[in-house]
Amino acid sequence: MNIVQKYGGSSVESIEKMQNVANRIIRKKEEGYDVVVVVSAMGKTTNQLIEMAKKITINPSQRDLDMLMSTGEQVSISLLSMVINARGYESISLTGFQAGIKTEGIHTKNKISDIEIDRVKKHLSNGKIVVIAGFQGMNEDGDITTLGRGGSDTTAVAVAAKLECVCEIYTDVDGIYSVDPRIYPNAKKIESISYEEMMEMSSLGAKIMETRSVEIGYRYKVPIYVASSLVDVKGSLIKEYDELMENKSITGLTISENVLMITVINVPYSPENISAVFSKLASKDVNIDMISQTSPNNSLVNLSFTTSKDEEYTVMEVMTQLKNQFAHIEIQKDIAVTKVSVVGMGMKNQSGIAAQVFKLFADNQIHFKLVTTSEISISYTINSADKQKAVSILAEAFNL
Ligand code: ADP
Ligand code: ASP
Ligand code: MG
Repeated sequence: MNIVQKYGGSSVESIEKMQNVANRIIRKKEEGYDVVVVVSAMGKTTNQLIEMAKKITINPSQRDLDMLMSTGEQVSISLLSMVINARGYESISLTGFQAGIKTEGIHTKNKISDIEIDRVKKHLSNGKIVVIAGFQGMNEDGDITTLGRGGSDTTAVAVAAKLECVCEIYTDVDGIYSVDPRIYPNAKKIESISYEEMMEMSSLGAKIMETRSVEIGYRYKVPIYVASSLVDVKGSLIKEYDELMENKSITGLTISENVLMITVINVPYSPENISAVFSKLASKDVNIDMISQTSPNNSLVNLSFTTSKDEEYTVMEVMTQLKNQFAHIEIQKDIAVTKVSVVGMGMKNQSGIAAQVFKLFADNQIHFKLVTTSEISISYTINSADKQKAVSILAEAFNL
């Protein structure tokens, strides 16, 4: 039977930690599994590599950046494979390309288009433990690509989908909590959570799983088990929704501080102008999250939108172009905003959650700027200074 195990950066940050990871891998092998291991770069390596690039330019070639970032995972696969081999078990390290991971899209945000899994299967059938570099692949032009931050999760789940097996994600927390335990230490561990809820939580900022990885899990029905690489306690399972899952209106609360809020003031009101703003952003692949528009006043409107802080350079470039087009507009940039979201399948057939949150915010003098909803979530942008207060109030009110 096959199994895929993924170990994140903190789980392989030192040789000592790799020895610990090797224990777990070897245990599975001894239990009779054919083991595929996906690893991230050691510790904070990826951040350090990006910092190095930033010392040269704030806008490096994205192809070069992919080339640079992909080296992190190459260090960890080679070392981990050496550790396993030194323990007397046969192992082989493979880069994303060698593992058959084909990608498409724009550099630093590539998506896996397919995996030619034969090479991995061959090594498994020869009894080897296969150690694959997460986060990377190769595009049609033969260039090295990366899958977006946190992308090793995606590699792991995609490989598990291809091998039709379970995917275990080992990290520095012992499961999925209703709230990031670093922000709200009283958060409760979730025994099992639906793909839909986890996808929503991830896309709204819960870093524990990369969004795309959960999407792939959902599509290919890969059971994903999230647990600690350090302690042996029961983790959390991401799986298909069923009636037995805890019946709360809200399952989780997520916080995203990676929010850039832009307000464009005095845009001459016409559907074409509004569309021009967002088309320009879309043409640069900027992912817009929340949008609001004031009603026309003297035929002028104000537009606000949020995106990730990583897009600041591109967004400001587009804003400069807009200023050339509309001489009288004014641009405001706000980075001291935090997005707080509540997520739960229970919201599908329960109304009044938004009203409840509005009241809690009003009673506690928390001002929100933008609000968006989906079928199973509601998000609010608030001043970053109010973050802790908002989290505690919501967590207590919804018993998270
Ligand atoms: P890895 O390097 O193993 O991929 P990450 O740092 O990407 O680990 O993800 C683990 C972190 O996710 C935890 O340290 C935790 O702070 C954070 N996190 C965010 N939301 C949650 C949540 N709801 N439950 C558990 N952890 C969460
Ligand atoms: N090393 C990459 C990152 O830091 C991928 C990952 O850790 O999943 O984003
Ligand atoms: Mg991660």
